[in-house]
Amino acid sequence: MDTPRLEIHLNKIKENAGYINNLLMNKGIETVGVTKGFCAIPEIATALSQGGIRKFGDSRIENLKTLCQSGIEGEKILIRLPMVSEAYEVIKWADTSVNSEIETIKVLSEEAEKHNKVHNIILMVDVGDLREGILPEEVIKVASEGKNLQGIRIIGLGTNVGCYGGVLPSKENTKILVDLGRDLEKELDLEKITISGGSTCGIKLVEEDNIPDGINQYRIGEGILVGYDSTGDRPVPGTCSNTMQLIAEVIELKEKDSIPKGEIGMDAFGNKPEFEDKGKRKRAILAIGKQDVDLDNIFPLLKGVEILGGSSDHLILDVTNSKEAIKIGTRIPFSINYGGMLRLMTSPYVKKLFK
Ligand SMILES: *Cc1c(COP(=O)(O)O)cnc(C)c1O
Repeated sequence: MDTPRLEIHLNKIKENAGYINNLLMNKGIETVGVTKGFCAIPEIATALSQGGIRKFGDSRIENLKTLCQSGIEGEKILIRLPMVSEAYEVIKWADTSVNSEIETIKVLSEEAEKHNKVHNIILMVDVGDLREGILPEEVIKVASEGKNLQGIRIIGLGTNVGCYGGVLPSKENTKILVDLGRDLEKELDLEKITISGGSTCGIKLVEEDNIPDGINQYRIGEGILVGYDSTGDRPVPGTCSNTMQLIAEVIELKEKDSIPKGEIGMDAFGNKPEFEDKGKRKRAILAIGKQDVDLDNIFPLLKGVEILGGSSDHLILDVTNSKEAIKIGTRIPFSINYGGMLRLMTSPYVKKLFK
């Protein structure tokens, strides 16, 4: 049994990593390779490493542990605010974490002291996206409390845009971070701090040479993995987007009506389905479902084939207009985007095949 499977072209990912790493390095920005999109699978992390990436970020401590245990070298950064309940694991598996709560920072400091370690802290600043972060006017106050703690060391500032609020990175909002950085250097008596100013959507600012001096780190996932910038809604120039393909297998092929018979209730996910009457259609059912993949984020690579919908374990295609012959057992290829990749990588039912 080799389906459903995700075929992963490691060379293309390595090239994307190398390309972005160089592009940013030429502007004085180091790249943190973000591994959460692929559960930090060591083969892919190695491709990032071969592309020149020396720092790795993940939102899940389990994934940083995987990186450590598989011998991937370089700084490991927890890029989601830590839970107090995972302080022990954070100290153990992460060199650095991003933080916005002094209570949590105090717990991390105590835990680090217990284990004779010093844990690095990047203070997250909210410049407008309304996801995580300290408000700019409070940053120095938090830093002044943090600098007296023995188990931690504040090494810089970070911000996140383009995720929750969809706020695009701009010269203005990144400049807030740089200015705050100068204040923080004074407060902490440090010469040069890390200013972690962006993700894939920030690559555009670099291309346009619109990035304020002082930003010296980006955390990049999507651009490396699938060569796309969702927030900017554009391919990342110079990268390759067909790094991965999903293959799923036909288990039923029949001609059926396009409208179900009987009274329509809610589907298995609490939505009321709607149907368009196109008469009798040739429908293929594939052995993959919403437990494995987000059906809105995969795209059939066969001409004329359309996704009709699915349930937890089934994907239904309209193959009436397919140019290629489809039979029971046919493996249908799909391209995927970052959102599609997330759940496919997480599903243990989807095999990962490295090419
Ligand atoms: C996921 C994540 C990133 C990476 O974003 P991409 O758009 O995939 O480059 C960067 N920073 C944080 C805090 C994240 O959670």
